[in-house]
Amino acid sequence: MYYPEELIEEIRFQNAIEDVIGEYVQLKKRGNSYFGLCPFHNEKTPSFSVSPDKQMYYCFGCGAGGNVYTFIMQMENYGFIEAVKYLADRANITLPEPEMSEQEKRKTRIREQLLEIHIHAARYFYSNLHAKRGKKALEYLENRKVDKKYQKVFGLGYATISRNDLYHYLMSKGYQEEVLSQSGLVIPEKRSRGYFDRFFNRLMFPIFDVHNRIIGFGGRVLGDGQPKYLNSPETLLFDKSKHLYGLNIARTARKDQILIVEGYMDVIALQQAGFSNVVASLGTAFTPYHAQLLRRYVREVVLIYDSDEAGIRAALRAIPILENDGISTKVLKIPGQQDPDDYIKQYGSEAFKELIERRTYTSMEFEIELMIKKYNLNNPDEKIGFIKEAGKRLLQIKSNVAQEIYTQEVAKIGGIPVETLKKEMVRYQQIQPIHQNTIVKSKKEPLEKDIGLHKAQRGLLYILCTEPKLYKLLQKYIQPQDFTDVTYQQVAQYIYTVYNHNKKIDEAGIVARFSTLAEQQKVSAIFTGKIHFQSKEQKQKIIYDQIKLIKQASIEYRSRTTTDLKELQKLIEEKRQLDHMNISLLDG
Ligand SMILES: [Zn+2]
Repeated sequence: MYYPEELIEEIRFQNAIEDVIGEYVQLKKRGNSYFGLCPFHNEKTPSFSVSPDKQMYYCFGCGAGGNVYTFIMQMENYGFIEAVKYLADRANITLPEPEMSEQEKRKTRIREQLLEIHIHAARYFYSNLHAKRGKKALEYLENRKVDKKYQKVFGLGYATISRNDLYHYLMSKGYQEEVLSQSGLVIPEKRSRGYFDRFFNRLMFPIFDVHNRIIGFGGRVLGDGQPKYLNSPETLLFDKSKHLYGLNIARTARKDQILIVEGYMDVIALQQAGFSNVVASLGTAFTPYHAQLLRRYVREVVLIYDSDEAGIRAALRAIPILENDGISTKVLKIPGQQDPDDYIKQYGSEAFKELIERRTYTSMEFEIELMIKKYNLNNPDEKIGFIKEAGKRLLQIKSNVAQEIYTQEVAKIGGIPVETLKKEMVRYQQIQPIHQNTIVKSKKEPLEKDIGLHKAQRGLLYILCTEPKLYKLLQKYIQPQDFTDVTYQQVAQYIYTVYNHNKKIDEAGIVARFSTLAEQQKVSAIFTGKIHFQSKEQKQKIIYDQIKLIKQASIEYRSRTTTDLKELQKLIEEKRQLDHMNISLLDG
């Protein structure tokens, strides 16, 4: 980590969690805590709590929890360093310049300039649209019935027919030609040694990243020019395989699903019709990066592609990429070959909502239907072809239940007994032994023993944190290195150090020592996983069992890895003690 720990703590101290979260969630005070609707899952009654005493938050609905850093990381999709910067800024704390090489510094400077250039360009395009020279473009938007409000929300603009307007404008702002050409908005012309604008005579769509920074543009030609749509090229800021148009807005919709459409205009039309959870890929096939990006916000997507061949092919390509990342995928076919925009204009947004609710196919249904169309099922040979293709696809379904259901379905369509189809599928699997399905099945499920050990470590850490009195007794039996889980071991180490210095445990402070979201969540789960003891005896038994389980695993692990004879003897002694462990933990 490249900021000193004291500084990280200072920043956390200066950002009261209830204030920071209060900027995102409406909080009401009840007792010592605040409650509100969880921003991380969809709910109608508040199960999201914020504790000012502990400086932690926790959701009883979805289990999200952590300190103020965790919250910002989760909410803004930031890394730890970005969250530190954000909160330092919020508290007016100046961060020291992080250590950077000359080359890194230069790159950062250029990135900053490119971001500024994109803001200037967007403002310039926007003012063009509303000047006399933008009349044609504005007319186009009016014909497509894009409201003034949404023109503004999406920052729509116009690149004029002149071929170097923007270039001159940006030069007048004092940028160097070399940086301008790195923005991709201006193209050097070798022969004339001049510069030209990439976009001219186009309706301009600024492309935002999830933090609302403009990183590129898409342009739609006005009239019949080619290509119809043109995007910014790859730059230091822009990589179209990693961004989705509209995600900056869709991610804040906090809906259970995200709709994926084909183009800019579809996104805008759907937004205007009240669907805030909609994105489009930027004129490119769906990539695994897109899937990862979406998975941060939702577990389900609805693909809304045109019903032409290109649209169907795009959907078919996107399905396995999304499902591979654990995103359940549905497909919506709009009746009558219409695009979403036309459909809503004709039938209204309520009707479109109904379509999404009632007329979506699961990805498998969609694929089966396409196969049915492909083969003439009245012809025996083609029927065999259908069964073969469908059978192979069925093998890729990860869920056993889903596989069973669709296998029955396909057997019915093919007019053969399910058992026959299943036998065929076994054969296909033997022919193609490396299948997603078999890979998934071979993945080792965590053993029950491991889960128990995990729980015991977490539980004991909770007790150690919340009951300082017990520490003196427990530390005789268990040491930080006995925690086999690396993260838990670090937490234990910290707890022991704090107690040995006669200090108090600061739960949020422990969380802040970890820099990845996964670790932070794991650590905060220690403090939120309350244990209720019904009696003193039960408490004694639980703690006893926890220590025994952890110690056993620790001894087992160390005896497997050690080569030192003395160490081995020590382990044998420890084992003997453990077997005779008979302690009264709760006398004090
Ligand atoms: Zn929640």
